[in-house]
Amino acid sequence: MSASVRAPVRTRFAPSPTGFLHIGGARTALFSWAYAKRHGGQFVLRIEDTDVERSTQAAIDAILDGMRWLDLSWDEGPFFQMERLPRYQEVADRLIASNHAYWCYASREELDEMREAQRTRNEKPRYDGRWRPENAAGRTPPEGVKPVLRFRNPDDGVVAWDDLVKGRIEIENKELDDLVILRSDGVPTYNFGVIVDDWDMGITQVIRGDDHVNNTPRQINILNALSAPVPQYAHLSMILGDDGQKLSKRHGAVSVMQYHEDGYLKEAVLNYLGRLGWSHGDEEVFSIEQFCEWFDLDHITPSAAQFNTEKLRWLNQHYLKLADDLRLAADVDQRLARRGVSLEGGPDLERAVSLYKDRVATLNELADALEVFYVDVEPARELLEQHLTDLSRPALERLSVLFETVAWEKTALSAAIKEVMAQTKLKMPQVAIPLRVLLTGQTQTPGIDALLEVMGRKRVLARLKRFV
Ligand code: GLU
Repeated sequence: MSASVRAPVRTRFAPSPTGFLHIGGARTALFSWAYAKRHGGQFVLRIEDTDVERSTQAAIDAILDGMRWLDLSWDEGPFFQMERLPRYQEVADRLIASNHAYWCYASREELDEMREAQRTRNEKPRYDGRWRPENAAGRTPPEGVKPVLRFRNPDDGVVAWDDLVKGRIEIENKELDDLVILRSDGVPTYNFGVIVDDWDMGITQVIRGDDHVNNTPRQINILNALSAPVPQYAHLSMILGDDGQKLSKRHGAVSVMQYHEDGYLKEAVLNYLGRLGWSHGDEEVFSIEQFCEWFDLDHITPSAAQFNTEKLRWLNQHYLKLADDLRLAADVDQRLARRGVSLEGGPDLERAVSLYKDRVATLNELADALEVFYVDVEPARELLEQHLTDLSRPALERLSVLFETVAWEKTALSAAIKEVMAQTKLKMPQVAIPLRVLLTGQTQTPGIDALLEVMGRKRVLARLKRFV
């Protein structure tokens, strides 16, 4: 397929600003963006804010924040549908003029009654075309009723498309009724806004969630009525939570920014989302550049993709190891500041980062580990009882004396520990573990000599002297 893609490729991401950018939306945005990149095309961002009641500025900001965090930059937009109302009216007028749309004056009560009657007759509830011009001939529109505009769906035949993910889909026109395209206040409904925009914006591939698959035949019919080009469609399967259930607020971290908050790196999230329902052989770890080179719509699985937090953690761990210390330090600096931890008087954060970044899976875990360098730790009483014993105490005392004068670097520090081990006839863990407990409150840390070096003489002595 990729070889025969028509140029220029133009894709779009068209979120409704009724909530944050969730994982599913971020994946749709990533796939649309990557498809445009792969084909040297353009990626358009469009905010579908016609649901005025539910759309908020906070949601717009949250969506833009999420896209910016992931570096999914758009070539055009953001376009706002509420700023394009005259254009929808213009296209609606064309449909009216060509007899593809008509005003419908049926009241809500009347429509409810109609559907109820259909249900009692065991028929599928649908609009019965009562205001189609041929059915309404001679009838005067009721006073004071503001009509809605309906699209006159073809009565016969099928509407079909070759979905780039799901394959051929065919729907009988008699399954579709005359949908409302303009509300009585002149605001377009979702299906109408989408087709006018996809047409005006020259969209060649519509990549979106498969919750829209039922809308596609309606959209194709309207485009056909306008003799507008029909884009290709790719409907992405839904994402299930770790528990195999539909991803929802119940799963907690469904906003991409929550992953940022939780200490995931954007390259891990992008890599993870890239593999969510798409594959390139057995490749699991790839950069965003590599992803853009490989990405196609042929290798998207039509079945639901399942979220796997463990795998995301694993990828994050991988990218943390590769990440530049300075960058991680800048991030951890902010995380510590938010906890009220000041770096003053403590070791250089970058050095501390390099000591610990191989041992953690998230930036929050890194911040947790590094906090001990900057705030006084209170080792748990059980740990003290277990490790600060008659056996270890003399060794720790000797060390605190040696640490006054030893050259403060790894080799000399290691030699000092070995000297004390020899004098006290203790083994390495018998000295190093109590030392770790007193210095960090933990029994496991990076190599003790490296830890001492980074922590610095002053802080090490202060902590030791509280106990020995
Ligand atoms: N605004 C729609 C949504 O957020 C998406 C529309 C589309 O991609 O066609 O679900």
